[in-house]
Amino acid sequence: MSLNQSIVTVKGVGTQVAAKLNKLGIFTLKDMIEHYPREYEDRRKIVLIKDSVMEEHNNILAAVVTVPTVSKKAGKIIVSFRVKDETGSIFVTFYGQAYMKNNFSIGERYLFYGKIKRKYNTIEMESPEYQRITDSEPIEKVAKITPIYPSTSKLSQKVIRGLIEKSLDLCMPFVKDYLPSSIREDYHLVSKEYAVRNIHFPNNSEAFFEARKRLVFEELFMLQLSLYRLKADFARKIAGIPHQVPDDLKFFLEHLPFALTDAQKRVLKEIIADMKSKMAMNRLVQGDVGSGKTVVAAIALFIAVRNGYQGALMAPTEVLAMQHYEFLSKLMGPFGIEVALLTGSTTKKQKAELIKAALLQKLHIVVGTHALIEENVELPNLGLVITDEQHRFGVRQRLRLSEKGAAADVMVMTATPIPRTLALILYGDMDISIIDELPPGRQPIQTNAVDSAYHTRIYRFIEKEVQEGRQCYIICPMVEEGETNNDLISVVEHSEYLKTEVFKGISVEPLHGKMKPKEKNEIMQKFSKGEINILVSTTVVEVGVNVPNATVMLIENAERFGLAQLHQLRGRVGRGTYKSYCILVSDSKNKVTQKRLKIMEESQDGFVIAETDLKLRGPGEFFGTKQHGLPEMKIANLYQDAKALKEVQQCVKNILSIDPEFKTFENKQLQEAMKEWGVKEELYNAL
Ligand code: ADP
Ligand code: MG
Repeated sequence: MSLNQSIVTVKGVGTQVAAKLNKLGIFTLKDMIEHYPREYEDRRKIVLIKDSVMEEHNNILAAVVTVPTVSKKAGKIIVSFRVKDETGSIFVTFYGQAYMKNNFSIGERYLFYGKIKRKYNTIEMESPEYQRITDSEPIEKVAKITPIYPSTSKLSQKVIRGLIEKSLDLCMPFVKDYLPSSIREDYHLVSKEYAVRNIHFPNNSEAFFEARKRLVFEELFMLQLSLYRLKADFARKIAGIPHQVPDDLKFFLEHLPFALTDAQKRVLKEIIADMKSKMAMNRLVQGDVGSGKTVVAAIALFIAVRNGYQGALMAPTEVLAMQHYEFLSKLMGPFGIEVALLTGSTTKKQKAELIKAALLQKLHIVVGTHALIEENVELPNLGLVITDEQHRFGVRQRLRLSEKGAAADVMVMTATPIPRTLALILYGDMDISIIDELPPGRQPIQTNAVDSAYHTRIYRFIEKEVQEGRQCYIICPMVEEGETNNDLISVVEHSEYLKTEVFKGISVEPLHGKMKPKEKNEIMQKFSKGEINILVSTTVVEVGVNVPNATVMLIENAERFGLAQLHQLRGRVGRGTYKSYCILVSDSKNKVTQKRLKIMEESQDGFVIAETDLKLRGPGEFFGTKQHGLPEMKIANLYQDAKALKEVQQCVKNILSIDPEFKTFENKQLQEAMKEWGVKEELYNAL
């Protein structure tokens, strides 16, 4: 017998029931016993009929006193009979289930659980759950804390409960406890067997909490262990370059176009400490949109170059790479530092020159897209590797770039406001710096969520802003009409419409991911220079683009975007000193959607938005398209179980530091468990 056997092994599961279970994602016995309750009802307390509460679920113990009768009302079959306890009597009624009349006999006692209603001058309990009470099934055994399972309407709770019960009996001898007993002792965790039984059928609330604690720990433990092992496969905990602080750093800082914020200074200190150290830097710099990460990267690059090394900066899009290139060139030029750009649209000739210059070390900094890692660019003396907007790159890409310099310092920057709980999982191996302050003079972006009836007013407002010299983004979710859903506004058609019908005499241009990189760059350049007033775009502008003169961000079909994404998009405006606006248009009547858009109106803080979204929708949804690819959790909740996660991380770190090869007997078992748990390919992408 194995837990991977099909559910048809369970008595009573035929092809029909199996198909329904499959719909719930249950295929094997293991799936079945890991189908955890969504909530519990305390049915230990039995209510006397005289104390039962109208319009609520009640749990009564009563005897059948009349023979079940069958009648018909509006074509529907009704089975009805009277039951009583020592304090009163009510009717029990079943609808559309004629066979029920054979299930009850006068004198038998049952525990009934269901909603009580007043019907004319009688009181009835409608289609209750029921269990017969006999000498062999006494009330103590039947009145329990009752699990409620995620289900479809096709499978009753009673049926699922029965199947789980049977599966548990069948599986229990084969359930293995992989957690080493030392860990169980240290963290006060109950045995696996106890946990599995009591998560389904807890005898009391303590048993439930103990069971859940153990299973949450185990799930997070397996996830974390697999992640660390994965990271260890790639990890290069190696000696780094002990950079020196150059003499002219002060001079360089004085020549920046602005004074650094305190947060920037603090993070810079942390980076400099890393760069000076003998170990290679491995740091994540997190900072909300507009917090000024680029300049921090520039300073780090300056230090590396002054120490005689080369630096690389990788950005996820051409537009962004171009922008970084321009910013760095301007900054570095006066200091005799050569910066080059390498993207998919760099010509062969340019590339050859670039490679030659790099080899001769006449080139100091290369800015680029992932072309940086795909092309055969040799940076013979690479000392610092920075990736911007890190969540767009997988760990493999990141490492491929740093492999170009054996001992290079690694720094990644992200604006994704990763909630602490998730950051702990995703970047458990990295040091984290947070730029938690915006440059001075920024005004909050006025945000309004409205429906499409407001379009005329919005357009008039945009016109006014443009007349005052400002610029505007209009974001649509789709590129071309009919791409997937006709209700969505498309960039191509929409910009045409806006150009010819709405904004006559104003420069309106489209921008989307299907354009050639060269076209994209041209449009972006023009927009940067103010030659385009209104940019109608897909989310290609989402990441990092910096046009301080833009003051209006209009987002169509706002319900289609994750909150993190909306926040990123909104961050494209409010970058200068002008008052800026974000308008979210959605006709969705969905309650959760409306709540989510409301958060955008109320908060400008990426972390608050992220945490709230995580609470509302769970981690998978938060990242829009599940960009991080974190596996679905069966029982742990990354938000609520943050404390457990911390414990688990410490525990896993201990194991790996003492026994990295999994040599002890118990740790060998762990390895086996990991295999069974499966290091999923999606984990790679999560990193
Ligand atoms: P992000 O962190 O989103 O990448 P950027 O680095 O693009 O942000 O910076 C956003 C804008 O703020 C840029 O125009 C940049 O020049 C400006 N900026 C950065 N730091 C400061 C500062 N300390 N004072 C004033 N402006 C700043
Ligand atoms: Mg940026």
